[in-house]
Amino acid sequence: MPTLDIPRYAVLGNPIAHSRSPEIHQAFAKQFGRRIDYSRRLVPMQGFAAVIAEMRGEHFAGANVTVPFKEDAISVAARVSERARHAGAANTLTFREDGTIDADNTDGAGLIKDLTINLGRALEGASILLVGAGGAARGVVLPLAASRPARLIVCNRSPEKAAALVALLRERGGPGIDRIECAVRPLDSNSLRELGEFDLVINSTSASLGGDALDLPVSCFSKRTLAYDMVYGNGITPFLGAARAAGAAVADGLGMLVEQAAESFSVWHALRPDTAPVITTLRASLPPL
Ligand code: NDP
Repeated sequence: MPTLDIPRYAVLGNPIAHSRSPEIHQAFAKQFGRRIDYSRRLVPMQGFAAVIAEMRGEHFAGANVTVPFKEDAISVAARVSERARHAGAANTLTFREDGTIDADNTDGAGLIKDLTINLGRALEGASILLVGAGGAARGVVLPLAASRPARLIVCNRSPEKAAALVALLRERGGPGIDRIECAVRPLDSNSLRELGEFDLVINSTSASLGGDALDLPVSCFSKRTLAYDMVYGNGITPFLGAARAAGAAVADGLGMLVEQAAESFSVWHALRPDTAPVITTLRASLPPL
């Protein structure tokens, strides 16, 4: 039973049993000698606003939000950060003492930290293929553009969603956006082949969850390429396997998960945790890459 002097947090989703957020946030809190209560909360499909109302009454300090409620998370907030507004989705809610809620989105910052710091990739001047145009892609596309790549191509199974993402890029990408070659492509190897190789290919689709391969040409990959699957915990997915067979380096989304959590932690506690030991501990419990 939590006591009132220990701040309460939860991760909200459906399903939620698989979430590693409680152990990540507890590990961060321990680094600063802090005690927090952090639980998982299964939210009924139509029940997001009702759960938030309950949590207000239970004096929660914050919540992380995952699939499929990141868009609902915007609608319960009185204040929405610029990065959450642009993404149209939030993964971090802060409950204020006056009963109002702040919404933020830390997914983009988490991906950029993982790519540039943990994986040591330079994004400025890079050629990037972003596969997928769902909520995760929306959260990362503007931070990727802000890193000033030379080329940022978005492809998706439903091309109209990729087109909407590139329209968002052109509208909100800031003054330097004209210097980035942005384009939309359908997700099929015939139309992608002519684009040649990429420095970075990011799979932001949920295809790997079901073990599905993506229709990408081998020519996307070379020895210089990093293939990054946002899905984690599934070992070598068909996407990563195809990239590795073509000589590319591979990474999964575990680092992004821990880095977005670190960003949430610093939103709530104004403290920046050390992510490396947490990534190492979680990595040891997952199938190898
Ligand atoms: P959404 O449901 O919003 O979007 C799913 C995307 O995947 C769409 O672009 C969809 O295409 C595409 N897709 C689904 N199945 C297939 C398939 N078989 N072949 C090709 N494309 C497919 O999900 P999210 O964007 O929120 O999440 C996507 C993934 O990213 C999830 O697996 C999630 O776990 C992961 N993620 C990881 C994070 C991390 O920290 N590591 C953070 C956030 C997300 P279409 O538009 O045509 O339906």
